[in-house]
Parts: sequence; C-alpha cells; structure tokens
Amino acid sequence: MNKDIFLSNSLGGKKEKFTPINKNNIGMYVCGPTVYDDPHIGNARPLVIFDLLYKVLKCKYGNKSVTYVRNITDIDDKIITASKIRKISISELTNSVIKKFHDDCKYLFCETPSYEPKATENIKLMIEMINELLKNKFAYESEKHIYFKVKKFKDYGKLSNKKLEDLIAGSRVEVSENKKNPEDFVLWKPSTDDEPFWDSPWGKGRPGWHLECSVMSKKYLGNTFDIHGGGRDLIFPHHENEIAQSICANKTKSFANYWVHNGFITMSKEKMAKSQGNILKINDFKNKFNGQVLRLALISAHYTQPLDWNDKLMNDCQNTISKWYDCYVPVNKKVLIEDDDLQPLYDDLNTPGYIAILHKLFEKAKKGSLSDKEVFTTACNFIGLLQEPKENWNNFKKGKLAIPENEILSKIEQRNKARNDKDYKLADKIRNELLDKGILIEDKDGKTIWKIK
Ligand SMILES: [Zn+2]
Repeated sequence: MNKDIFLSNSLGGKKEKFTPINKNNIGMYVCGPTVYDDPHIGNARPLVIFDLLYKVLKCKYGNKSVTYVRNITDIDDKIITASKIRKISISELTNSVIKKFHDDCKYLFCETPSYEPKATENIKLMIEMINELLKNKFAYESEKHIYFKVKKFKDYGKLSNKKLEDLIAGSRVEVSENKKNPEDFVLWKPSTDDEPFWDSPWGKGRPGWHLECSVMSKKYLGNTFDIHGGGRDLIFPHHENEIAQSICANKTKSFANYWVHNGFITMSKEKMAKSQGNILKINDFKNKFNGQVLRLALISAHYTQPLDWNDKLMNDCQNTISKWYDCYVPVNKKVLIEDDDLQPLYDDLNTPGYIAILHKLFEKAKKGSLSDKEVFTTACNFIGLLQEPKENWNNFKKGKLAIPENEILSKIEQRNKARNDKDYKLADKIRNELLDKGILIEDKDGKTIWKIK
C-alpha cells in the first residue's frame, strides 16, 4: 500500500505522518508487564493495540522490516513484596506470572514480538549505562545509591509537556534523604539481605525500574529508533526518565521519534487499576468468552481515548463475532484487502472506523459470492479476528467453553490412562491444564465427570 501511516505522537501532542529512520529496518519498543500478579484487562489493551500497530507496519513495510521489542520487568519492588506475601521465591513467582501472561497473549490472538528481553538478563548492560552516566556527570553516588541528576538534562519534561517545578510540586517524585534534589531518580539501589542482588562497582544491589527500557531498547534497536509505546500512565515519570537516561548516556539528539500511548480502561468512568480495587483479570474471561470477543472489545474505541468497560460492551462484541461467523470461510490463498478499506487503520489506528468497514464487508458477503466472503474473512483476520474455524467458535457459543468438548474428553482419557500407568505427575498436569481452561474434573463411582468451574 502506498498510503502513509499517521500516528498520534505524544512528543509534540500532534497527529503526524510516520516517517521511519530506515524503511527496511523499523524499530518499535513497547513497555511490557511487571510480572508480580495476573494480567488484567488494563494490561491487555496495549497488548492488542501494539499488536495491531505491528501488523499495520508489517503490511506497509514488509514482514522482515519491522522489529518489535516488548520487555518483561522481572525485578521490581512490587515483585519482591508479592513474593514475600505469597511465601514463594521470586523466580517461582515471576515464572508463573510470565506463563500466565503468555497464555493471555495467545488467548487474545496476539503475535509474539521479535524479542521479549527480561530485565534480570541485562543487568550487566545496565551497569555499563550507569557508568557512562557517572563518567559524564549526569549521575551521582550517594549512600550506595546512584541517582540521575535531572537538572543536567534540559529537555526533561518535554514529553509530558510539564515544567520541572510543576512536576516537583505535583509531588509525584519519590522522596528520599539520599537525593541531592527531590526530582532526581534512582538508577541503582542497594539490596537488603533478604532481597535479590547483583554485584556492582557500588556494592550489592539492583537497578531502578526506568533503566531497563533504556538499555534493552538500545540493545535491540540502537540509540535512536522509530516508535516507543505504552500506556498513558507511563509518560511520567517512566518515559520522561527513559528519554533522559538514553539521550545523556548515548549522546544523541533523540531517543524514540514517535511516542504512542494508549488511554486507560475505566469502569463507571474510574480508571481500572489494582490500587483502585476494580480490576478484571484476563483469566476471568476465559471460560465465558472466546478471546476474539475480548480483542474486539479492546479495539472498539480509538486507542487514544479511554475505554469504558461494561457487560453490554462484551455482549455486543459477542453478538457481532457470532454474526460475523455466518460469513466465515476458510481462506487458503492470498486475498488482497482494498487500500480504501485499510485506510482507517493507516490513519492513526482508527479501529472504530475499520470495524465500520468490516460491517459493510459483512453485509456484502452475506448476499455475495464466495470471493466476497473470502475478502470479508481476510479483512477480519488482518486485525486478529475470525482466527478460529467455525466449529471451535460454535462449541464455545453453546457451552461457553474455553476448549471444545471433544478436546476435554480426550484430555480426560489421557489423564485416566496416566493414572492407570501410575504416572500421577502427568495425570495432575493434565488435570491442571483443564483447570486453567475453567474445566473442573471429578472422579465419581469409577467415572470421571467434568463441569465448568
Ligand atoms: Zn519502559
């Protein structure tokens, strides 16, 4: 497609034509999850939005020309606290949450990014970046902590469009007696005996959260790259701090050229957040809805806008996908989507506009030929919808099951065979796999029955 892509750039606050640094090597970095608790639908929105942007970029520039990096924060105060509360080791906690996160990504029909680096695997590079910042006096050591000296970076606040004084007055800065200035932020801090640590020139400790994204984006995309994404709540301080660290350490003029931020999910107009106590976990939907329904709901509003969550939204999306499956046909060949039909997605990922086009293509397919149905199915596939064969969808519709009944029955058979063979480990594994999908099995009078949890 020859048409240009436009994006809402938080840096400057305008919708801008997207011009890549190198059209054969486009880089996109998106801040991923901190793996301390099960992902909720507030976390799911950026997953789906940036998956869609990845698809649009690949459509225009070619599959091999786009590198998508999404990190995993696997060391953080929240993780340490959660592991203490749950009385499990940090690696046990992070591994189990990462597994759930990957299951959720699959459930939502999201593609795997090109790279998914973990913070704990990049500590050495973080220490190198701190050394670079210390060398050039952008950072200082105080009581085994290393802080970034915000006043040394004159463009601080440019992304969030705030003056330093306002940021300090807003008291959204962490208070610490070790800092020289209240706005300075931590790059490295010492660990206590019961906390995880890495050796560093400043003693045993661990990195501050912001540093990992500066380091991992540099590792995979270079000092300056095209798109940096994340939720709106990350603009300050996280993204402001990433910019400051990267530009000062790498001695470049810019870090990411386009900053794309998605709006919040709200419930009755209140932001959905763990601290508000109004979160819905992705897992809670799995035995009630097919992931495509959740995916459609998450793109039903423009990504820059808040999305208000309610049962009606899910029911409407359920009905829409159900109706659309009437015109589903398996497509095994390359079918082109008209440029005009793709236009809304190129224009700042206008998903409501594209959904309106899908409704139009559906009406045409209903009365039309096989090729109209192929065009409609392909257009749905492009945004990750109608991905499953109709039989799977129908099973789900009937029993609201996360997996088809025949699969449940064959799993029960495998489990009972494992039990007969005294392979209880395998038997438990199969039982838990079913439980993850919301299916509970029970042994009664020599028979195994199943029910929805
Ligand atoms: Zn980040």
